[in-house]
This record gives sequence, structure tokens and C-alpha cells, in this order.
Amino acid sequence: MLRVDVVLGLQWGDEGKGKVVDAIADRYAVVARFQGGPNAGHTLYHKGQKVVLHQVPSGIFHPEVLCLIGDGVVLDPEVLLEEIEGLRRLGLSPEARIFIGERAHLILPVHRWLENVSPEGEKIGTTKRGIGPAYADRYARRGLCVKAIEEADFERQVKALTAYHEARFPKHSPVKYSDTFWEGIALLRNLKRVATHEWLSNFSEVLAEGSQGTMLDIFAGTYPYVTSSHTTIAGVLSGLSVPPQAIREIYGVTKAYTTRVGEGPFPTEIEGEVAEWLQSRGQERGSTTGRLRRCGWLDLVALRYAVKINGVTCLALTKADVLCGLPEVKVRIDGPDTAPVYSTLPGWHSLTDPSFNHFLQFIEQELGVPVWGISTGPERRDWIERSIPAHKTS
Ligand code: GDP
Repeated sequence: MLRVDVVLGLQWGDEGKGKVVDAIADRYAVVARFQGGPNAGHTLYHKGQKVVLHQVPSGIFHPEVLCLIGDGVVLDPEVLLEEIEGLRRLGLSPEARIFIGERAHLILPVHRWLENVSPEGEKIGTTKRGIGPAYADRYARRGLCVKAIEEADFERQVKALTAYHEARFPKHSPVKYSDTFWEGIALLRNLKRVATHEWLSNFSEVLAEGSQGTMLDIFAGTYPYVTSSHTTIAGVLSGLSVPPQAIREIYGVTKAYTTRVGEGPFPTEIEGEVAEWLQSRGQERGSTTGRLRRCGWLDLVALRYAVKINGVTCLALTKADVLCGLPEVKVRIDGPDTAPVYSTLPGWHSLTDPSFNHFLQFIEQELGVPVWGISTGPERRDWIERSIPAHKTS
């Protein structure tokens, strides 16, 4: 019987989901991405080397694990090509273990072009990877899905969609289709493409890997400063075509503080010394864009919401090590976004200090879910599991 555990970001993305997935992936037959595109950059360490994955699921470093790029994703063939070449340079042969949902949609060069010619993304702070326009075409029912590459007139379809958008912005020079794009399409033709619901039913243990975070969900997030897809549990069902009964654990990932990239509300944002501490010790710079992340205290009001709407069963806490050495830490417990109310807790020097344990207990009490996993650093081995999720004991 199909069982799907889910790793979801509970904040504004960059919670360390890739790291958490990498830490537990060897318990699963499949790791599947269900939404988003190459705006997500999941940072992992493979044999001490830093690797950022944009399209390939974070299970790729486990040789037994199959990786699915699900139907809910928008896929850039050029980015995938580059990423697979990068993985080959690390000595992996990833192609045999990558499967692509045939209903995933393609990001074409015209989608990246649109980000530059139309001013819409500016105020939202998009990553300009063509993701928003690709989803917009998908919902306008003129997008091209992965299955379209099998059709004899695929090239004509690409040209027609491109011409449609070029006609909207006639003052701009036309879109360029490089050889790399067509190489990317050739790569997709060689990879295994699957009907997601059928293919997944061959497995019992699947891990669904979220991108971005709950507060960036197109419906549930801080609209309009959101991403173009469902980053919440709803996205797993639609993006992988799995029934709700298949879902087992819902692991919510949160940092021990909060960050946000780009514009939009951020009630617990701080400036000054502590913010700089978090930015430098936490290396809070976007893995896709290189942008410095805005930093702030942990926001339990936002987390309570994220836990509730996703039905989170337990938490994975990351980056508490970044707070080591601060005399005290604050957490927002109440109050409106404009006037957050904080509790001040004693800081910790190491993650074995009783005050860190107190911090964990405080979070558990406030959110009503156990802290199951604690990430103690960026590498796979920096990982502690405190309590065992219910299904593992039954
Ligand atoms: P994701 O998109 O949610 O996977 O997160 P990103 O990869 O964008 O950002 C998380 C960053 O934090 C990466 O650079 C990770 O290597 C790093 N990281 C993850 N967990 C920890 C942790 O527990 N401690 C520290 N210091 N860094 C971590």
C-alpha cells in the first residue's frame, strides 16, 4: 500500500528542507518533488562538497533511492541538463534514477524572457527563472506539458507559444532559443517519463519533498508576495496525484529563527547586530539568487497557522546552532502582525544546554506538536531524532 511522508517548509522557504530530506531519504524507495521550479535551491553537502539542487529531488545522493519530478512541478530542461551534468562531474550516474511526471509543465526560454520584458515580478521579488509565467500559461491552458515533447509538432507548439507572447511585447527583441534548450529537450526524451499515479502505486514508501514554504503558498501565503504554486499539503495531493489516505507523517520544517527573501510582510523582522549575526553565522544568502535574506525572530503565530493548515504531525527544527552564543532569544507568541508580542527565553552555548531543551519544550507547548528532528549543522550527519513518529512504533 502506498504510504507518503511529507517534508514541508513552514516559513518563507529556505528552512533547510533539502538537508532534512537528505538525512532521512534512505528510508524511502522514492523521493518526489511535487511543486515549484528551479527557484528553489536546496543546499546539500555530498562528501564534504556543497551542492545546490534546483530541479532534482534531494534523494539523489542515496544510490538506492529513485527521484520523481512530479506533475505539479514546472521544469526547465536547460536547468535540468546543467544539473545532471554537475551530478555526473561528482561521479554519479543520475539519469537512471530520475523519473519525470508527464504532466509536469515546461519552462521555455519565452517564460524567462517574459520575466524581463514585463514588470509584474519586480515588486514581488521573483527569481526571474520563468516560473511565474510558466504557471500562468499552465493555468491559462496554453502551456506545454512534458508529454508534449513526444508529439510530432512539438517544435511548432513551442514556436506558436513564443509568437503569442512576443506579439504582446512587440517592442522587445525576439526570444532566443539556444542549442542548450534543444539539448535539454533531447535529454528529457531520454529520461523516463511516467504517469505519476500509476508509477507511484508500485511503491510503498515515498517521501514528498516540498519547495519554498507555507507562507509563500499561492492561496494560503502572504499574497501577493507568494510563489506560483501550492507549497502546502494540498500541493502534494494535486502535484503527485496521491489520495489523502496515503499521507502518513507530515514533517514541518522550521528554522529556530525566521528568514524571508524578497518583499512582503515579515512581522518579526529585526535589524542591527542580531540580524547581522544571523545573516553571517547562518549564511543567510539565497542559494539561487545570492540575495541576502531578511532575518528575524521565530514567529510562533505564523507557525501555529502553518501547523494547523498542513496538519503537521511533527516538527524538524534547523539552524538552532546559529543562535548558539546569543544571551537571549525571542519568540513571537501573540499579538497582531503590526504589534507582535514576544517571550524572551535564555540563550544557549551548545545544543546540549538545558536552556536549548527549554526552548524546544516551549515550542512544543505553543504549537502542540512534538519536535522530532533536530538539524545541528548543514551536513547529513548533523541530525538528531528525538522521538519516534507514531507510525514507526505501530
Ligand atoms: P531549503 O530550500 O529549505 O532546502 O533550504 P536552503 O538550502 O535554501 O537553505 C538552507 C541552508 O541552511 C543551506 O545552506 C543548508 O546547508 C543550511 N542548513 C540546513 N540545516 C542547517 C543547520 O541545522 N545548521 C546550519 N548551520 N545550517 C543548516
